[in-house]
Amino acid sequence: MSSTMRSGSLNEDQHHSAYDMVLLRLGSEITVKGKNRHRFEQVLADHVRKALRPFERVVVQHTYGRLYVMLNEHPYEEVAAALRDVFGLVSFSPVKKAEAELDAIRDTALAVFRANKGPKSTFKVTVKRGWKQFPHNSMEMNHQVASHVLRETPELKVDIRNPDVELRVDIQQGAAYVYCDVEQGAGGFPYGANGKALLLLSGGIDSPVAGWLGMRKGLTLEAVHFHSYPFTSEQAKEKVVTLSKRLLHYTNGKFKLHLVPFTDIQTSFAQAGQERLIITLMRRAMLRITEMIAERESAHAIVTGDSLGQVASQTLGSMNVIGRATDLPLLRPLVMMDKVDIIRIAEQIGTYETSILPYEDCCTLFVPKSPTTNPNLESVEKAEATIDNLDEMIALAVKNTVTVVLKQDEAEKKAAETAEDRWF
Ligand code: ATP
Ligand code: MG
Repeated sequence: MSSTMRSGSLNEDQHHSAYDMVLLRLGSEITVKGKNRHRFEQVLADHVRKALRPFERVVVQHTYGRLYVMLNEHPYEEVAAALRDVFGLVSFSPVKKAEAELDAIRDTALAVFRANKGPKSTFKVTVKRGWKQFPHNSMEMNHQVASHVLRETPELKVDIRNPDVELRVDIQQGAAYVYCDVEQGAGGFPYGANGKALLLLSGGIDSPVAGWLGMRKGLTLEAVHFHSYPFTSEQAKEKVVTLSKRLLHYTNGKFKLHLVPFTDIQTSFAQAGQERLIITLMRRAMLRITEMIAERESAHAIVTGDSLGQVASQTLGSMNVIGRATDLPLLRPLVMMDKVDIIRIAEQIGTYETSILPYEDCCTLFVPKSPTTNPNLESVEKAEATIDNLDEMIALAVKNTVTVVLKQDEAEKKAAETAEDRWF
């Protein structure tokens, strides 16, 4: 996203100049939080400020429980593109401000109506009067505004039930706000509102999507990646760094990636003569290591990209036996989702292209011909008991974990830190 990006056609420019601010709406999950509401709004305002930092003239206002973005001549479309990535925003609208006075409202309503895209054969006007001293009531105002627009646009018809365009006017003391569009926001909670978890990040399609969904639900995430260097390549690791940088975009400006050396553990599993159980054993070891890192990082859950039935390790039986390796809650945002829907999100958040690069992951290296789909917990525990020094190897893997801290630029980080202060 760049503030120098120019919009193309004259039409679009006209569209932009029709608006001077954006009205932001919080998610309903946030609004039910009663007393916390103000704090949520403040954190959200901080995140919005951070997302809009590339737009120098834009100002975020937080007044009387409302969040506005003053565009100050920045093209609306560019600002909207940045707002779509802000978690906790349920929707937003480009708005034109008018004096709280009949003629001004009518003229502004007409300008907004004209700037609105799409077919406009029918319309409806909805006026809300927050300021009760305004001399005309809502019914009168509906009529006043609609008749003005109709007079200037003769082919137009009113349709109360199913209009092409709904022209909305919100009259407050000192100003009226006029808009048509309501754009869907990313929803969820502001980043970091719901605590910290560790994301098991492979190089595949699923886990970055699981991470994004976790972040959208307000989790602060750190990623844990297991590599079997030199069996897995440097490029495989780079791929995970690239995916992490993509996820960094949705954070408060900082994203930790823990790179765990898994070669020794994996090799000893391969030598244990339990071919069909190897994936189960690997996954359990991954969870045990992750739990130890979680303790060190004060994280309270593990997020994975598991999706029910996708592969042998993701049958209900496998999930049961694998999940028992940790006491931490395992959050699996994709568990009930179909692959096509997961891919659609991966494309939207920009991880798909990287995920499909063909570098080997540590788990694809040792995949047996017929992995068990229904492992028996007792047999798995027995197999683990036969492996010499498993506990020590697990402790050593934690000790030798390399942590990379990815950061956005300084300016963005500052805004992010303010946001963090408000939570903790
Ligand atoms: P993805 O599920 O991301 O597409 P994948 O299909 O290669 O990757 P699976 O075999 O489906 O991985 O593994 C299920 C989940 O286990 C992953 O979504 C991820 O959360 C975790 N996982 C697998 N391999 C690794 C790894 N090398 N490092 C960290 N986590 C991993
Ligand atoms: Mg998968």
